[in-house]
Amino acid sequence: MKIGLVGHPGGGKSTVFGALTGLAVETGFGSGKENVGSVKVPDSRVDALSEMYAPKKTTYAEITFTDLGGGHGEGIDRKTLNAMRSVDALCQVLRAFPAPDGGDGDPLAEMLEMETETLLADLEVVEQRVLRLRKDRSNPAELALLERVQEALENEIPGRRMTLSEDERRMLLGYSLLSQKPLLLVLNVAEESVAESAPDGLASAARERGLGVVVLSAAVEMDIAQMQTTEQAEFVASLGLAEPARNRFIRGAFELIDLVSMLTVGPDECRAWPIPRGTLAPRAAGKIHSDIERGFIRAEVVPWEQLVEQGSEAKCKEAGLTRVEGKDYVIQDGDVVNFRFNV
Ligand code: GDP
Repeated sequence: MKIGLVGHPGGGKSTVFGALTGLAVETGFGSGKENVGSVKVPDSRVDALSEMYAPKKTTYAEITFTDLGGGHGEGIDRKTLNAMRSVDALCQVLRAFPAPDGGDGDPLAEMLEMETETLLADLEVVEQRVLRLRKDRSNPAELALLERVQEALENEIPGRRMTLSEDERRMLLGYSLLSQKPLLLVLNVAEESVAESAPDGLASAARERGLGVVVLSAAVEMDIAQMQTTEQAEFVASLGLAEPARNRFIRGAFELIDLVSMLTVGPDECRAWPIPRGTLAPRAAGKIHSDIERGFIRAEVVPWEQLVEQGSEAKCKEAGLTRVEGKDYVIQDGDVVNFRFNV
């Protein structure tokens, strides 16, 4: 699962990327490089279970971020547009801090500009396909769908806001429409504004579009990332925050791509397994090992809070809290699962 950071040059993409991944990156206006790095998803459930089991290894879910660079003088360039098509979700970094050479940010304008450009890029793709399908009459169902999509795009409705059936949504995925990709807005504010909420204009525009907004200061997050853990907590509290914005941002991104975490525990390893929401137990078992999927018998499931509350799996069983689920069970976020299988 790959998430692309996009936005105007100088908005702080590279800085956000560096703070997220802890990788040293070149910052500065439009450094134009594409950086890729994976990030552990902070998870207090895994922390609690790991404390309980003191396992040899603790493994968090991971997602990959890629800094797609800029290319925003005369709009987004082709290369960036193509790179945007290949990611699973987008995070747009909006500048709300004064630029080094002066000039306040205008995050709402940046958001609207990106929206327009992605709509136009999508329209170009759809128009071409519609012409082609009208000519060769090969697929009337797809043509009808794309004509509807074209009309919606012309009316400035992004793909993610269109009313589509599951099948239609799936059919459209092949076109990698940019306005259909899940989008999270990252408001990069000045150091003194990290505890404030997004300005009204941006907040209401985001709400109308059903988009999440994470407020952070990339510069502050970069400083936090370089501190020792104890120093970090004090500094974060002095900013009026409960935790580094980095954590909120990564969790927001994780939810954006509609993943949930299945948990496994034991003396060897406590681990979060990212799985798409709605995954059935055998498929989820296959994430651990294909043999477990193939030989799936049942899943023993207990929600993580109950396990932590009871203190052991044995106590959960005694208290009748452990459920035995079959192959039609949909794994829920935070389920601690033990698979029984036979190969
Ligand atoms: P990109 O072009 O979007 O990748 O932006 P960069 O991450 O390279 O940042 C552009 C400039 O803004 C750099 O000089 C950064 O140090 C600076 N910058 C980024 N985030 C912040 C921030 O939160 N506060 C301040 N004051 N400067 C920032």
